[in-house]
Amino acid sequence: MVLKTNRKIGLLIKTGLMVIVAGCISGSALGQSAHVNPWAPKPLGTLPPPASLSKGVWLKGELHMHSRHSKESSNNSISKIIAFCKLVGIDFLAITDHDNHVEGDVAHNTWADPEFKSDSVLLLYAAEWTTTRGHGNAFSAKPYDHQKLYDVRDQRDTVVGRIKNSLGIHLSANHPSGKDHFGYSYDMVNSIEVWNSAIWSKNANAIMIWDDMLSSGRKLTGRGGSDAHHGVPVGDEKASPNTYQAKANYAGTPTTWVFATARTKQAVIDALTNGRVSISSNPYAPRVEFYADLNGDDKMDMMMGDNVKATGKPVKFKVQLTGNSIRDTTYTINIVKNGNPFTSLKMDGKTPVVEFTDTPAIAGRTYYRVTVEGPATPYPQVPQSAALSGNMVGLSNPICFNFDPNF
Ligand SMILES: [Zn+2]
Ligand SMILES: [Zn+2]
Repeated sequence: MVLKTNRKIGLLIKTGLMVIVAGCISGSALGQSAHVNPWAPKPLGTLPPPASLSKGVWLKGELHMHSRHSKESSNNSISKIIAFCKLVGIDFLAITDHDNHVEGDVAHNTWADPEFKSDSVLLLYAAEWTTTRGHGNAFSAKPYDHQKLYDVRDQRDTVVGRIKNSLGIHLSANHPSGKDHFGYSYDMVNSIEVWNSAIWSKNANAIMIWDDMLSSGRKLTGRGGSDAHHGVPVGDEKASPNTYQAKANYAGTPTTWVFATARTKQAVIDALTNGRVSISSNPYAPRVEFYADLNGDDKMDMMMGDNVKATGKPVKFKVQLTGNSIRDTTYTINIVKNGNPFTSLKMDGKTPVVEFTDTPAIAGRTYYRVTVEGPATPYPQVPQSAALSGNMVGLSNPICFNFDPNF
């Protein structure tokens, strides 16, 4: 009994000592708190109101595709790619041939190809910037001097960034966690390839990098791209050892959707930059749309890609699938908040809408994004792609609060 009491006292003394020690540590930490981080976020000025949610058009596209001008590509002429895009309803297309295969002279190769024209598909001027430090896609609505970007590839990022800005192009980090990952500063890119090819599972680390960039204040758009190099042989074309890929990964696996203010190349690029973008596993899969009602009037005020100041009031968020949702199924809607799982909701395929409410913090940045899981939508023209994408149906870009546009 005595022994027990002594032990108890001993424990009390020990606990007391720990409290005192802990008190000393926090006291001394408090004593040194005169430091002010000069980089701490400053109060935000006025943010521009979100653009109209109705004045615009949803367009679907392929943003990473190689034609015969990339040396390792097979049976993939530009006319074949464009005809395929037309067939499956793709609205915009970036043929992104490796620039190193033509020493930077994309203008006299891919863009000068007589087949590089279309009366219905919006053809972006694009190339895959292929460098020692990895790959990025350059996108533009009009021709630009790609040679300059190629020539500067081994210079310091500050120099590269200057050239990139002077060209007025949209630069995008390619397959950021794969082979030849983008190895330059993310401060010079406008978007990041978070879904490369039909093989969804290999993108996990790309998503992690995207969340890290968003969490640290870089409002980068997430986009998709098949990175397909090989077409199906027709006529007297001979199959190559890689021909099998054409049935598993081709234009539209995945498909990037943009909400563009008009059906023009520039509007596609602008949407890609502002983030009114979502990605679907293929052109026939449903499109994810993500909205928020800021004042409780049940009218949506902003969508993915938009950024407003948090008011401290609860925000109602709405996720909906548009297009070919499968009626007799249940989709799983995963909400990610600031890089972490926030909640998971079930959505009925018959009425494919779900809502949730949360109050974004008044201080500091907050973002929400959505991934949708469910049954695959068949893509008959690329029949083996559905199995590779598994149950990944689509993902949205983030809805943002308190992001600094001048970051
Ligand atoms: Zn690449
Ligand atoms: Zn590529």
